[in-house]
Amino acid sequence: MTRLVIVGSINMDLVTLAPRFPAPGETLLGERFLTVHGGKGGNQAVAAARLGAQVHMVGAVGDDAFAEPLREGLAQEGVDIQHLARIGNCSSGTASITVAGGENEIVVVPGANARLMPSHVETARHLITQADAVLVQMEIPLQTVEATLRLAHAEHVPVILNPAPAQPLPLEWLRLARYITPNQHELATLLGADASEDFLRLMRRAPCPVVMTRGAEGAWFRDEGEPMRQPGFEVHAVDSTGAGDTFNAAFAVFLREGLPNAVRKACAAAALSVTQLGARGGMPRMADVDALVA
Ligand code: ADP
Repeated sequence: MTRLVIVGSINMDLVTLAPRFPAPGETLLGERFLTVHGGKGGNQAVAAARLGAQVHMVGAVGDDAFAEPLREGLAQEGVDIQHLARIGNCSSGTASITVAGGENEIVVVPGANARLMPSHVETARHLITQADAVLVQMEIPLQTVEATLRLAHAEHVPVILNPAPAQPLPLEWLRLARYITPNQHELATLLGADASEDFLRLMRRAPCPVVMTRGAEGAWFRDEGEPMRQPGFEVHAVDSTGAGDTFNAAFAVFLREGLPNAVRKACAAAALSVTQLGARGGMPRMADVDALVA
């Protein structure tokens, strides 16, 4: 069984379906409201657990009404929540999403995610030393991202950095990552490059191995030498929310099988995830991935 430590964000998405967006100062009657568990860290933890990994999540929730449901949601998926901090006098991470006419408006309040500190990662050191891989994204303070990269690197545990949402980082940090998993926009931002620069050139310029996601086209990957392509799997796409999270989780789970196999299975898992609604809705089980790559 693959053992993973995932360091990242946990959010409650508050989704309102409305006939149109309200004007400033206006009150409008909406059509539907639903709460959906999200956050890149939480989503990746659930995707990895569905694929059969033993997942330890390092993250934080607040002391509000969302804290317990968020913890429970992860625990029910089999994610170990021993290292989820509860931050006092603080809200859990939320994303208030209004959907109208096929578009959305989103306000994210990081809440407890912004209070996840290097010390929280340090308390999970014993789990990191025994992990097959560590996975971290950038919806938490960058000092905590750095601490995760440094700790895993020092312990010779491969650490995968999913550099989303896009932010520039010191190149020195990237060298600590075994792989980074950006899309084109994220890699350009990381390297301070022009967003229109050819993606293969960007990949060659990165100071560490890169796995670049390319939507329905699949992914390109480069360890040493020239970038190689894994075509996307053809599926009936319904909702691409969570495709990147499923990709990252599967890549971490299957990394033990070598880079080309891990990218292939990550593309398969992510393709399956877009066939159903919602970030966590379509996240596949191991048998589904095996069936698609067979
Ligand atoms: P992000 O949303 O983070 O930019 P992508 O859109 O590149 O991520 O999607 C991540 C991965 O999901 C892709 O590398 C691909 O393997 C898979 N994927 C996304 N959309 C589709 C699709 N329409 N058909 C098949 N696979 C897809």
